[in-house]
Amino acid sequence: MAVIIDGKAVSARLRREMTAEVAALKEAGLVPGLAVVLVGEDPASQVYVRNKMRACEELGIRSRDYRLPGDTTEEALLDLIGELNRREDVHGILVQLPLPKQIREEAVIAAIAPEKDVDAFHARNVGKIVQGSYDFLPCTPAGVLELIRSTGVSVTGKECVVIGRSNIVGKPMAMLMLHENATVTICHSRTQNLPQVTRRADILIVAIGKAKFVTADMVKPGAVVIDVGMDRDENGKLCGDVDFASVEPVAGYLTPVPGGVGPMTITMLMRNTITAAKLLGGRRG
Ligand code: NAP
Repeated sequence: MAVIIDGKAVSARLRREMTAEVAALKEAGLVPGLAVVLVGEDPASQVYVRNKMRACEELGIRSRDYRLPGDTTEEALLDLIGELNRREDVHGILVQLPLPKQIREEAVIAAIAPEKDVDAFHARNVGKIVQGSYDFLPCTPAGVLELIRSTGVSVTGKECVVIGRSNIVGKPMAMLMLHENATVTICHSRTQNLPQVTRRADILIVAIGKAKFVTADMVKPGAVVIDVGMDRDENGKLCGDVDFASVEPVAGYLTPVPGGVGPMTITMLMRNTITAAKLLGGRRG
C-alpha cells in the first residue's frame, strides 16, 4: 500500500514558515505585494483569483486584484501591466490565464517585467530555468518538487518519467528533475509503448489531463507517483490522471486528488512573491 503524500499538510507547513518570513520582512520595512489581473468573467478563473487573494491575506502579503471586462483590448491590458511594472509596492504580477481571444497571451507574458514574473512564464525566466540559475520556478512544478522532497526519497540517479510536455507543467518539471540529477524521460501523446516506458520510473509524474489514465500495470512497484491532473470522473467528481484505486496497492508513495499537488501551487506562488519582494527590495535572503 502506498504512503499517501499529504499536500495540504506540506502546504500548511510551508505557509507557516512563509508567514514568519513575511512578518520579518515587514519589520524591516518591506511588505511583499502581489497584483492579480483577471480579464473577463470565467467562473473557474474567478475561483482561482479568489483563492490566491485569500492566501496572500493569510500570509500577510499585500494583494490587489484588477478586474477588467471581457472585451478589454490588448493595448489596455499592456498599459496596465506597464503601470504595475513601474509601481514599487508591486513585487509580483500575475495575469490569470486563459485570456479572451482578442488578447495574445504571449504578448502579455512578454510584457511583464521578468523580475515580477511570479508565474515564471516569461522567456527570460524559462531560459534561466533551463540554465539552472533561476529565481522563480513555475508554481506547479515547484510544488511537485516539494512533495517529492517531503517523502525523503533521494532523486539523484533515479529514473524519472514525466507524462505531458506542456510549457506550464511537463517541460519545466522535466528540467527541474534533471537539475535534481534524475535520469529524465518525457512522454507525450505520440510516445509509443507508454506503459513500457512508465514502468521504468522510480518517480512518475503525470500531467496529461485525462481522468484515471495511469493504471497499476503502468507503475513500477514502490515508485513515487505524483498526479498533477485535475479532471472529472464519470460522475462529475474531481479526480486525477492516475487511477488511484488500482495504483495505490502498487506505488510506494502517491498523491491524492484533491489534496495532493493542488494545494501546493498557490503556496509556491506565495513563495515566488516573497522572493520577488526580496530581490526588488534588495534583501536577498
Ligand atoms: P496540456 O497543456 O493539455 O498538456 C497535456 C499533455 O499531455 C500534452 O503534452 C499531451 O501530449 C499529453 N498527453 C495527452 N494525452 C496523452 C496520452 N494519451 N498519452 C501521453 N501523453 C498524453 O495540460 P497541462 O496544462 O500540462 O495540464 C495537465 C493536467 O494538469 C490537467 O489535468 C490540468 O488541469 C492539471 N493541472 C493541475 C494544476 C494544479 O495546480 N494541480 C496546475 C496545472 C495543471 P501532446 O503534447 O503530444 O499533445
